[in-house]
Amino acid sequence: MQVTSDMLAELIKAASDTMAEHDAEVTELDKTLGDGDHVINIRRGLGFLVEQSEEISQLDWADAWKKMGMTCMSKIGGASGSLIGTFFVAMGKDAAGKTVDPVVFAQAFNAAVEAMKARGKSDAGEKTMLDTLIPVANYLTENCGKTELPALLAGLKETAIKGMESTKVMHATRGRSSFLGERSVGHIDAGARSTQLMICAIAETIEA
Ligand code: ADP
Ligand code: MG
Ligand code: MG
Repeated sequence: MQVTSDMLAELIKAASDTMAEHDAEVTELDKTLGDGDHVINIRRGLGFLVEQSEEISQLDWADAWKKMGMTCMSKIGGASGSLIGTFFVAMGKDAAGKTVDPVVFAQAFNAAVEAMKARGKSDAGEKTMLDTLIPVANYLTENCGKTELPALLAGLKETAIKGMESTKVMHATRGRSSFLGERSVGHIDAGARSTQLMICAIAETIEA
């Protein structure tokens, strides 16, 4: 089976549905470590992406990712808006002019993670969404082009969940949660949870 960009409307809907379903839980995480608006920010962005999804599905991967990134940057508030916007714009730039196969996808995903790190001046272990995304990027590098899709997707979900869970014991050093210092330890980061939920929902939609 091949994953094509005309599936994007369905994939965006899956991300949007999972954030609606887990709204209360993830909001509570951002209330504990931040200001409680993370799900509002993410769902606002996803709402615009759902509206544009028919149009997005008609583009090739690179143009679709660029458009998604621009929408996230301009429509989502908070730290996460510019970070996720930067992520998708970078994916689009890296994939521009290329035929997107699993290996090219892994390269674009890695480029996007690097762009997010630069934008947020952050790295692994700082209790952010990067603690979900960095292990996922490494996993994709190791497995795309080698592992068959069903096993690839199963491992992808497992990797995202482990990354999300790893934030619980971390001491936050970036974003609002860093204001709590040691008191941030013992709670999962909202952005790590939302990115994991969306990655898992997308994987499950492709699996179905
Ligand atoms: P805000 O913190 O401005 O209210 P959100 O609540 O939408 O924005 O997003 C908070 C999430 O953004 C955090 O849970 C964390 O995962 C992520 N985040 C914050 N700062 C950074 C950063 N510098 N690098 C990477 N991710 C970050
Ligand atoms: Mg917040
Ligand atoms: Mg905020």
